[in-house]
Amino acid sequence: MAVETVVATPEDNDPWINAQRQFDAAADVLHLEPGIRAILREPQRELSVNFPVRMDDGSVEVFRGYRVQHNVNRGPAKGGIRFHPQVTLNEVRALSMWMTWKCAVAGIPFGGAKGGVIVDPGRLSHDELERLTRRYATEISLLIGADRDIPAPDVNTTPEVMAWIMDTVSMSEGYSIPAVVTGKPLSVGGSEGRNAATGRGCAMVAHQVCARLGLDPRRLTAAVQGFGNVGSIAARLMARDGFSIRAVSDAYGGIHSEVALDIPAVVEHTRRTGSVVGFPGARPVTNAELLELPVDVLVPAALENQITAANAGRVQATLVLEGANGPTTPDAEEILVRRGVTVVPDIVTNAGGVIVSYFEWVQDLQSFFWSEREINERLGRILTRAFDASWEASERLGVSLRLGAYAVAVQRVADATSDRGIFP
Ligand code: NAD
Repeated sequence: MAVETVVATPEDNDPWINAQRQFDAAADVLHLEPGIRAILREPQRELSVNFPVRMDDGSVEVFRGYRVQHNVNRGPAKGGIRFHPQVTLNEVRALSMWMTWKCAVAGIPFGGAKGGVIVDPGRLSHDELERLTRRYATEISLLIGADRDIPAPDVNTTPEVMAWIMDTVSMSEGYSIPAVVTGKPLSVGGSEGRNAATGRGCAMVAHQVCARLGLDPRRLTAAVQGFGNVGSIAARLMARDGFSIRAVSDAYGGIHSEVALDIPAVVEHTRRTGSVVGFPGARPVTNAELLELPVDVLVPAALENQITAANAGRVQATLVLEGANGPTTPDAEEILVRRGVTVVPDIVTNAGGVIVSYFEWVQDLQSFFWSEREINERLGRILTRAFDASWEASERLGVSLRLGAYAVAVQRVADATSDRGIFP
């Protein structure tokens, strides 16, 4: 099956430029002091690594990876690891900055980081993937650690990959350190509820925003782009809550139906065939078409730069929930907001993942584990608080919901930075 891509226009396809533009807008609203602004505008640390992996046929390939810590003033760095052929240093920088704001708006005591390796994992055997993961983990062990920087899953990285990272770090230290990474399998200190947390959080935020806008989910149709960890779980839980999910997609294409899709059946079809494509009873659509379908709610849950200045004018949904990180460019958002579309920003919509990662880390450090019910209740409380604070800031300041969320987050990081003072 061929992978299809939605190509962003050149001027708005650099996620780092977009992330800095979003930060600048918040810094302006907050009248941030120039010194603090300069500190927060750049990543604190960036590590690039080129490392060899022995392939199954005996040859050696060299891969490039990154780990970037944007800011650690509110606590240890936290952020996922992405395995994808289009990873760039600027993408990792953007993702690390977004993690700083996400942790801050959620009020959890972490800074922001992100990692990535330029690789198409679908091209690797299981053994090659394990060797690549273990060598990358060793290379970035200069930065990661349970008290310093705690990775987690992102695109194409799974609980199994997290278990290899935990084992690799533990082997070099000589004892088990479960708290060095989150999103692990339950057998090695993972948390109940972590695998579903990001999608569950999206569904919780969908519920919150509908309540604020006076909308009844049972009367709303939705399309979800990306059917991996975030998209498939968000689709399943939103369907459970009454939304009629009419379209879903993945890297190979999408499907659209005039009636609600049976999401558990689409999940099963994807498990069997590797894609949503070909699901019986639905018509094929491209990812580009999916974004412009006549639905009420659009959930981009794949990659950055999907809604751009080129297609924002054709988006028909009146509510966009950013399951992915950075799916809407700043130019596109201006167009959407001008057209009256409510965009719930990534740093709130997908914060469920890092919130339950925080719970996992706390449980590992205490060696004391909580029930799934307890975890989901605490997740709901923290997400509601983050959503409400963002909504209230956007109303108080007369700005978009993203800028409201950023105002809350950036102010918290700015306060931590000035309270700590400039060393030395
Ligand atoms: P995943 O690897 O589980 O799934 C990604 C999905 O997107 C797959 O269905 C894949 O086929 C699809 N996809 C890839 N390229 C595509 C393209 N060009 N067009 C359309 N679909 C494409 O990854 P995930 O963990 O679900 O992550 C999805 C997004 O959510 C990313 O932006 C990620 O940073 C963000 N996110 C993930 C988490 C988490 O806990 N996993 C937390 C917060 C944010």
